[in-house]
Amino acid sequence: MNGKATTIRTRLERGRSALGPALELVHTGRAPTRAVLTAELGVTRATAGAVAAELEALGLIQVDSRPGAAAGSQGRPSHRLAVNDSGPVVLAAQIHADGYRAALVGLGGRTVATAPGCETVSADPAQVLGAVVEAGAVLLRESGRRCVGAGLAVPSAVAEPEGTALNPLHVAWPAGSPVRDIFAEQVRAAGIAGPAFAGNDVNLAALAEHRHGAGRGAQHLLCVATGHRGVGGALVVDGRLHTGSSGLALEVGHLTVNPDGRPCYCGGRGCLDVETDPLAFLTAAGRDPGPEVSLLQQSRELLRGQYDDPAIRAAGEELIDRLGLGLAGLVNILNPDRIILGGLHRELLDADPERLRAVVADRSLWGRSGGVPILPCTLDHNSLVGAAELAWQPVLDDPLGALAVSREPA
Ligand SMILES: [Zn+2]
Repeated sequence: MNGKATTIRTRLERGRSALGPALELVHTGRAPTRAVLTAELGVTRATAGAVAAELEALGLIQVDSRPGAAAGSQGRPSHRLAVNDSGPVVLAAQIHADGYRAALVGLGGRTVATAPGCETVSADPAQVLGAVVEAGAVLLRESGRRCVGAGLAVPSAVAEPEGTALNPLHVAWPAGSPVRDIFAEQVRAAGIAGPAFAGNDVNLAALAEHRHGAGRGAQHLLCVATGHRGVGGALVVDGRLHTGSSGLALEVGHLTVNPDGRPCYCGGRGCLDVETDPLAFLTAAGRDPGPEVSLLQQSRELLRGQYDDPAIRAAGEELIDRLGLGLAGLVNILNPDRIILGGLHRELLDADPERLRAVVADRSLWGRSGGVPILPCTLDHNSLVGAAELAWQPVLDDPLGALAVSREPA
């Protein structure tokens, strides 16, 4: 180590605990300059400068000190901070009803490379997890980037601390499959460095939207979304996922919104899960879902292109009213300061925002006195970006420690 780096490191002995918070501020775009970083951390300019220099030395961020960089809070030019576009990445993987997607994701939620895979998902989770990890390993080899961890999104509640998929209804895996351990084993076998994590796809979508998308700045963020099949929910409180005592909170898919409705996989009837997903929409619209493209894609095309067709509009309004009923119940219980909608629910909001907001306001206790904002999710592949957030978390918590660990041979 050279003398300058030693000096910086010594100065940082006291400030190591600021590295993680500083990295998170740059990662989420909340500290675009060193002046903002100084103010947000509540430290001296010298400490903020040393922290930024250390993160740059670790290859995580870039500090741009050229004249003409953006003005700081006092109008003085301040060094510009950004995530390092050629720095380390994590492997993100998502399994859904129609296949999988693997991606390399850098800091800032930036997708570096992606590989979609379409297949009938095997009833043996090891088979599809092996395929997605192999796709990720190919991306890593092609990119030559350093990998510091891996995250997996699955369409099921994931019990903690066991890492088991409790209700993988739409992928026909056995209930209780140890998905995190299987994924971690595949990651190790592929020679990919760093720890491996797994979470529910909608939880991870909410986390990604909170850090990089439509949920930024919300204190009590409620996310409700349909993926390819079924409906999920998530709550992010003060920046952390609310997962309940064992990882199973916010199973909103089984709220009853139509007591006489269709039977649900859970054994109930008229659940949000089966009353507001793409299959429910296509059925209500009198469309026979063809096998060529996903149900979500077919629904999206009808809602965007043919909403003036009376049959499409009637089907859309039926689903909006049921979704609104479910959201109103959640508003009464959770009192969120923002709701974001993904998948088909986002399309329903876009098709008729006034109707959905009116149903929620009319049915929620406090809705009529103001109304909680309801917004569309904004990130592409937000579950995948959220899976990456899981893998980045150890680095955000302790950049020095996490990078030292992931450098050790597997
Ligand atoms: Zn149900």
